Amino acid sequence: MTAHTALSSSLGTCTLVGAGPGDPELLTLKAVKAIQQATLLLVDDLVSDDIVGFAPAAARVVYVGKRGGCTSTPQAFIEKLMIEAVQQGERVVRLKGGDPFVFGRGGEEVEHLNAAGIAVQVVNGITAGLAAVTTLGVPLTHRAHAHGVVFVTGHAKPGSSGPDWRTLAATCQAAHLTLVIYMGISSAAHIQTELLAGGLRADTPVAIIQHATLAQQRHAACTLSHLHETLSSEQLGSPSIIVIGNVMRALLALDTPTAAQPWVA
Ligand code: SAH
Repeated sequence: MTAHTALSSSLGTCTLVGAGPGDPELLTLKAVKAIQQATLLLVDDLVSDDIVGFAPAAARVVYVGKRGGCTSTPQAFIEKLMIEAVQQGERVVRLKGGDPFVFGRGGEEVEHLNAAGIAVQVVNGITAGLAAVTTLGVPLTHRAHAHGVVFVTGHAKPGSSGPDWRTLAATCQAAHLTLVIYMGISSAAHIQTELLAGGLRADTPVAIIQHATLAQQRHAACTLSHLHETLSSEQLGSPSIIVIGNVMRALLALDTPTAAQPWVA
């Protein structure tokens, strides 16, 4: 699906393209078409070279993630670059990992371009949280185990306190929801402590999936009370998805008796 703003387009075009979790075969046809027609690509860190490889040889490729320099390019600079390029008639493709509108700051980019009078197209990508769980053969919302799923970031915006983990824990426990955490590695110890304090059971199954869908993918499974310990013993780092919930039970082969499961159909 694509979203299109109502603003008039300038000389060039701007498309935010979801590059998916990593495996190029998980790109949408719309994504491939947009990349093939680009004259300028602004590429995030988590986008693999195979995906950038769909661009025409003549296209200019600018890496705006950490691999382009020492630290990530400031967001304001990226937006300025996009605006100027569109005004100069370029077909700009902003390639973002996963889906542009899931923790990707795509919303901010659209707002800034719209403010400059530039219409933006958005092409969905498969978000990492969804793909990571599927690689393990686990249905995120298997109806025997979950009523739904919560996608949450473990990395708060500077100046914000981040998610209220205790409330989330109580809600997931009571409402049988699967918790999918993005950017949660560096604060995993805190998240674990808070989720336990909020009432999520210590034996709730957890999976950590690093580099999902890529050749170097690795994962580990444990229970919530061992999350932080497992991350260090298995040396799992970013980028990883942490999935917490009873849908992971089969994967873990955890045959410990669970609380009554009245929601099982
Ligand atoms: N827009 C992206 C998310 C950007 S936030 C999306 O929809 O997927 C970046 C975070 O996404 C990473 O810190 C990590 O938690 C997760 N992530 C992205 N790609 C991943 C991958 N291939 N494997 C595991 N986690 C990934």
